[in-house]
Amino acid sequence: MQIRRSPKVYDVCIVGSGAGGGMAAYVLAQAGADVVMLEAGRDWDNARDGTMLRWPYQSPRRGASTKERPFGEFDACIGGWEIEGEPYTRAPGTEFDWWRARMVGGRTNHWGRISLRFGPDDFRRKSLDGLGDDWPITYDDVKPWYDAVDRLVGIFGSNEGLPNAPDGIFQPPPKPRCYELLIKQSADRLGVTCIPSRLSILTRPLNGRPACHYCGQCSRGCAVNANFSSTGVLIAPAKRTGKLTVLTGAMAREVTTDRAGLATGVSYVDKAAGRDEHVRARIVVLAASALETARLLLNSRSSRFPQGLANASGTVGKYITDTTGTDVWGYVPKLADHVPHNEDGVGGCHIYMPWWLDNRKLDFPRGYHIEPWGGLHVPAYGFMGGIERYPSGGGYGRQLKNDYRRWYGTLVGFSGRGEQIPSEHCYAELDPSAVDRWGIPVLRFHWKWTDYEHLQVKHMQETFRALIDDMGGTVFPEMPTAEQGYGIATGGRIIHELGGARMGADPRTSVVDANCRAHEVKNLFVADGGVFVSQADKNPTWTIMALAMRTASHIADEMKRGAL
Ligand SMILES: Cc1cc2nc3c(=O)[nH]c(=O)nc-3n(C[C@H](O)[C@H](O)[C@H](O)COP(=O)(O)OP(=O)(O)OC[C@H]3O[C@@H](n4cnc5c(N)ncnc54)[C@H](O)[C@@H]3O)c2cc1C
Ligand code: SF4
Repeated sequence: MQIRRSPKVYDVCIVGSGAGGGMAAYVLAQAGADVVMLEAGRDWDNARDGTMLRWPYQSPRRGASTKERPFGEFDACIGGWEIEGEPYTRAPGTEFDWWRARMVGGRTNHWGRISLRFGPDDFRRKSLDGLGDDWPITYDDVKPWYDAVDRLVGIFGSNEGLPNAPDGIFQPPPKPRCYELLIKQSADRLGVTCIPSRLSILTRPLNGRPACHYCGQCSRGCAVNANFSSTGVLIAPAKRTGKLTVLTGAMAREVTTDRAGLATGVSYVDKAAGRDEHVRARIVVLAASALETARLLLNSRSSRFPQGLANASGTVGKYITDTTGTDVWGYVPKLADHVPHNEDGVGGCHIYMPWWLDNRKLDFPRGYHIEPWGGLHVPAYGFMGGIERYPSGGGYGRQLKNDYRRWYGTLVGFSGRGEQIPSEHCYAELDPSAVDRWGIPVLRFHWKWTDYEHLQVKHMQETFRALIDDMGGTVFPEMPTAEQGYGIATGGRIIHELGGARMGADPRTSVVDANCRAHEVKNLFVADGGVFVSQADKNPTWTIMALAMRTASHIADEMKRGAL
């Protein structure tokens, strides 16, 4: 194969431009390093490409999904569960779905922006209950980086002093909406902790970005960058330093190494030209998302690294997890016939429920948090979950219109998001024969939930039903049975995949050290969710960003003192 080699040698090559890659690029470019970034997807600009203020009636589809936009045509994510020419496979009996973004900023263009710190217990779970593994670092090691991310990116919330849901440097949270107040009352009655949510959306101007104007459309890409996306908040200022070169449509194939076993750069496919290229760099940072990073390492095989790069331990692709999840929803008659009012708010819930119970008194380990939803959002294709399910709902003409007006805003739902224990049953490996359109071997997934996760999800179902019942509502879906896994979402469906290049003090059982540097390759680092040792009952991205900032600052320090 003819490969074109770049004459220039960059200081750092970063693969991937999402939460982890964007943060690494920001820190390293600010520190004066000459950085090149490879991004498999296309360019994206929130102001140019977002659809923040588009009305559903401006499209014949009314916002329904398209092949490229499975979450709806206005959604700011190009990618999906299936990408043409980029397959993945599942071992027999495995159910697993993999969401991939293909654009500058990755999934941070449309993510939910629920921005939670892991707590002190989340870094030492094995010591507490004997399951999984401890991290080689503690909450105190990461705290200053969480603080720095809060200050740089901006987050709203409230300081509550909860033991394992740490406080942060918060901007004021928006007030709860009407249905959220009703949820809060029921949560208080049932003893479920319910506090203002913690979202990376500005309620006050910060670092040259304006405060949110409450249009409620965060998942479409914020044209004024009042919410966090890697694209608008990290990559744009990194580019302005003149130190960051972003190559789009550049699909990394493998990390190249020299005879000494050091990384020399990354070979990639220029997708538009259909040509193989090679970019040279003194340091390589992988941030292609947890599972793509594992794939890249497994594909970077050589006589020196026959099992793949940084994989002497055989743990690349292992100990992968996703968040557990299930949903319950119903309608609450108390919310019918409301006085019309504007409660758009931010593009996300204004309240949330962190884990509030003690597992020693329960039949499953580890917790979950609750993300409520509902309210008076812009109606779009499929809204309200089917009018025929409401009392007297459906029909034609005037009755249909009246029913929509009456019941609009009465739908309330709860999504549980919990911690899965890493196990030997869940891993990714290279498929022995399948390749993508460029001939790059693809991942094959193995996945199995255990009773730990099933019983946790059963508890979610029961809790959410009790909440809707207490609100005087009627739940729509039947209680799922044990045979239905109590309604647990298929692995990968919550889109919080982590692990596959986990951190550890022992090179025999882990891929990277406490600074996210590969044990075996001194100038190779990982800056995405691949390094996570355990999942926690929190969404992972704030921790991905804190760790990426910590790793990139470590690289900058090492470069300054000539050690890299
Ligand atoms: C709908 C949705 C809602 C979410 N909500 C939340 C939330 O509320 N809170 C939370 O914490 N998390 C949430 N997440 C998860 C969050 O988006 C991810 O944790 C986060 O984006 C991961 O960052 P990353 O940098 O690892 O990967 P990504 O953001 O996926 O970025 C990876 C980038 O690498 C590129 N890439 C991949 N392979 C290659 C290759 N071989 N060569 C070159 N480039 C490559 C991709 O094109 C992509 O742009 C949500 C995700 C989705 C989809
Ligand atoms: S709700 Fe606020 S942050 Fe979200 S898109 Fe609208 S203005 Fe931007």
